[in-house]
Amino acid sequence: MRYAGERQAAVQERAEPRPAPGEVLIQMKAAGICGSDLHLYRHPDPRFVESSRVPGHEPAGVIAEVGRDVQGWSVGDRVTAYFRLVCGQCEFCRTGHSNVCTNRRGSYGVGPGTADGADAEYMAVEAQYLLPAPDDFSLEDAAIVACQGGTAYWPLVRLGASGADVLVVSGLGPVGLLATLFGSRMGAEVVGIDPSADRRALAEQLGARRTFDPTAGPIGEQVRASYPRGADKLFEASGAAAAYTAIPELLRPLGMAALVGLGSREFTSSLSAIVHRELVIFGTSAFPLTEYDAIWRFLRRHTIAPSQVVTHRFGIEDGAEAFRLADTATTGKVCFAF
Ligand SMILES: [Zn+2]
Ligand SMILES: [Zn+2]
Repeated sequence: MRYAGERQAAVQERAEPRPAPGEVLIQMKAAGICGSDLHLYRHPDPRFVESSRVPGHEPAGVIAEVGRDVQGWSVGDRVTAYFRLVCGQCEFCRTGHSNVCTNRRGSYGVGPGTADGADAEYMAVEAQYLLPAPDDFSLEDAAIVACQGGTAYWPLVRLGASGADVLVVSGLGPVGLLATLFGSRMGAEVVGIDPSADRRALAEQLGARRTFDPTAGPIGEQVRASYPRGADKLFEASGAAAAYTAIPELLRPLGMAALVGLGSREFTSSLSAIVHRELVIFGTSAFPLTEYDAIWRFLRRHTIAPSQVVTHRFGIEDGAEAFRLADTATTGKVCFAF
């Protein structure tokens, strides 16, 4: 796959990559389309888009070739890979928080000028970023955990989501749907918000108790009619300015919100209500690898799988149609199968 202009994607034939020393070659079996891919897909600047490499940062497959100086991995191993190229030496890398590394070199498949990503039949990956994909889940599940699954799980851990909570999930794209699936299994009463009726229906299937349409009226009033006290916790996955400004209305005093969705720069107007009501709000960016094994244990314990949020699958040859559909913001997760 490659981006081919604003809201254009195309397939092209390329030589199979070879693993450099320290790298392995992954033969792709599954790859997910993430919201960050769509930010690039929608980018209006052709120079920016032209300079992009193969998109996709949710790879999963089997090792096809092991480069020189790689230890501990073999041909045939089932793997995924962490997409952020980090320094490994800063304070945050050293303490297990490489997701917030201050000297990032780039990312696989996200942004211009960095390394080629997952939306291709083969991908070369530095062995230090490989993660084992468990045998008791599909490789599609492993692809999703590599970005969106972890991105949904980690803020729920930081929020301390539990059976004591009403948890609002604002934005029911794939990350919001995964937060609905995981948050409801953590015991929370999940309340979903999204303008798409299809996405609200998916959220209810995955565990949301109630869902609301923010275009049907002031969202704070709608939710407060059913939950007069306000929600205990909020997971913001839409990135919409209106969703940000609604946060103080949706939360009870001392409530807590995780900001996950990107896209809005105009949410300062609600800052005073955050102050007066002592709300706790934190940003969250992908997930630290300290959580990787805990995610699989959690999924196993509750007999759930990230691929439950997948609604559409495409071969890579139909990649342009896959991106067009994902861009409509009406589906669950869109994945490539190889
Ligand atoms: Zn992502
Ligand atoms: Zn670092």
